[in-house]
Amino acid sequence: MLVQRFQFNKSERTVQKLLSRLTRSAAENSLAYRQLLETTGQLRNVEAGASFESLPLIQQAWLHDVPTEGLLHRRANMGALMHAKTSGSSGMPITVYMKRSEALFRSAQIALGWRRAQRLPLNLRVADFGTRLPPENGTVHERRGSFSILRLSPLLPRTEQIGLLSRFNPHVISGPPTSLDLLAEDLLSTRQPLRSIRLVAVRGELLFPAVRARLERAFSCRVTDFYSCEEIGLVADECLETHGIYHVNTDACYLETVDEEGQPLVGREGRVVLTNLFNTTFPLLRYEIRDRAERIPPRSDGVCACGSRRPKMRLLSGREDDCIRLPNGHRVSPRAIGAAVYRASCVRQPDGSDRWLLRRFQVVQDAIDHVTIRVIPESGAFEDVERLMHSMLRTIHPDLHCDTIQVEALPFEASGKFKKVISLLEEDG
Ligand SMILES: [Zn+2]
Repeated sequence: MLVQRFQFNKSERTVQKLLSRLTRSAAENSLAYRQLLETTGQLRNVEAGASFESLPLIQQAWLHDVPTEGLLHRRANMGALMHAKTSGSSGMPITVYMKRSEALFRSAQIALGWRRAQRLPLNLRVADFGTRLPPENGTVHERRGSFSILRLSPLLPRTEQIGLLSRFNPHVISGPPTSLDLLAEDLLSTRQPLRSIRLVAVRGELLFPAVRARLERAFSCRVTDFYSCEEIGLVADECLETHGIYHVNTDACYLETVDEEGQPLVGREGRVVLTNLFNTTFPLLRYEIRDRAERIPPRSDGVCACGSRRPKMRLLSGREDDCIRLPNGHRVSPRAIGAAVYRASCVRQPDGSDRWLLRRFQVVQDAIDHVTIRVIPESGAFEDVERLMHSMLRTIHPDLHCDTIQVEALPFEASGKFKKVISLLEEDG
């Protein structure tokens, strides 16, 4: 069923067909969607073939709060599924479930994105400074098909990072720009080029021009930004002709931008709304991801200067956070901090699902050796959260102290974004 969802180079017609089939499938097979549609009075319309655009927008809070079993496809066997966890960059963690076929398609999309940006060998070595790392300060080596992946913690001492990379000889180095920039600074100052690298695949934070320039200098290769999220995988990749312009990955998702009332927008900044086109196990329809973007109307011939026919957009905000500066002068990216906070507060349940003891958080650095962590804990979990935050920070730096305070709400900024890491230190930039 719904085999088109795994098609490569989906046509616009296929995407439209898929959207209505996915809508019907969610209404039939996911109890949570069924109930949502019932509450909003849309269920009958959907069953009668109403358009995808009439579906209500769903928020992270809804996804976080509905019971996972109710959201999943009724025939899904939770124990047999693979999962990906969001880092909680907007302050609310979500676990996304998928079947093996869906996970494979998701990984293939990421690899294809890299291959669109650069010619790469078939047997690929990838060094990844991700956020999904079991040990603090650690590394994990994985093999996936023809891929060899070395996952490094951005908290690993940089001399060690460089040593590992020069032995591993990666073709692609991937991670948030803040982590890669710190590495680039060291490579430039010690004049240790990593000659095997052909593509720097940046993701997870906005890529500032100064950082891009330093990465290009340090790695002597193409630097491309990939807009991705755990809920979908690769959402859009940067245009190869124009920095800051992205092409939507229409194989994996349908991207809309809407105004404050939820009305569709083109040519103006709006809230990003995503629909996953390939995962029917954990349906995600018209999901607000809390990024802001502007969709760009296509040229009359529909082809970009880079040759792509995929829809264009400009990514505007939602991922700008400050760094935390450690007492030894090193900086830690907000993604790494966010991941550490959530990892520390995550408890594995007997049924194999994850439970986070906090709903949202914000880290404020108010002195070089002190941060205040504002948390909205799950009911009754504050003391545990406080203890876990204290020991988590000690693993980041032994002289970094913290106070954890419980708050009722964590406001978003006027622009609609939420900063999970704020630095009050003056010279942070
Ligand atoms: Zn282009």
